[in-house]
Amino acid sequence: TRDQRWEMRVHALDDGRRVVHLIDRTGSYAAERMRVDFVANASHELRTPLASLLGYVETLREDAGDDPQTRGRFLKIVFGEAQRMQRLIEDLISLSRIEAEKYRAPDKAVNLAELIGQVAIELSGSPRAADLVTQLADVPPVAGDPTQLSQVLHNIIGNAMKYGREGTPVTIALQPDGESMVRLSVGDEGEGIPAQHLPRLTERFYRVDSGRSRSLGGTGLGLAIVKHIIERHRGRLDITSTVGKGTTVTMLLPVRRVS
Ligand code: ADP
Repeated sequence: TRDQRWEMRVHALDDGRRVVHLIDRTGSYAAERMRVDFVANASHELRTPLASLLGYVETLREDAGDDPQTRGRFLKIVFGEAQRMQRLIEDLISLSRIEAEKYRAPDKAVNLAELIGQVAIELSGSPRAADLVTQLADVPPVAGDPTQLSQVLHNIIGNAMKYGREGTPVTIALQPDGESMVRLSVGDEGEGIPAQHLPRLTERFYRVDSGRSRSLGGTGLGLAIVKHIIERHRGRLDITSTVGKGTTVTMLLPVRRVS
């Protein structure tokens, strides 16, 4: 097919015959292509706020700087763009850290109910804090990295709050799944996600509506970070959604074995 890449090697045998060796390089081409796309996307995402920031600073240095009202308004924009760049850089650093640790299985005993409680406190200042509902069954500790699992909760709950409607519940549920897994889910009653987007949501910088994500402070990296963390935990991630009804993100995490 069009996306297939083959490397051809020709070997001459002693008797004059030739052997043609075809090697399927599709996988490594795809990985290389993804890396190139990622660098291009990241640079573009940083360049846009930087260009805007420089433009406003330039104008401030000229006449606009004299009028206190205009100055205040422009500085607010400059601050917002700088924050956007900072969020993006933090997410990029997170991604590369998680990737660097990919082969070290996390092994701390993590009490997810406690972690959820902690994250709920950290989110208590957000405008939708009152919408958080928790349904926490008794579950054994999972084998994990508490900092990374806290980041997973922040990203998923943050999305549920961002893409949901104020006053509708964001439900965090915890329950056992057989003997060896724990099921953690976050459900919202927001706008939902059209089915064709679901398989691509965990790709870096993939967004259903880029303008909307950016205006809500999104970097497009949240779910990519979640996917990598869950993979490192040997867990599973599943996103289901109905347009107009809402979205549920479910994670299965292995129970910590006591040896
Ligand atoms: P972002 O920073 O843009 O929120 P994410 O990687 O966290 O990036 O999510 C990717 C995209 O998936 C979002 O831009 C949004 O379109 C969609 N999405 C994620 N979570 C939800 C949700 N709970 N409801 C609706 N859409 C969502």
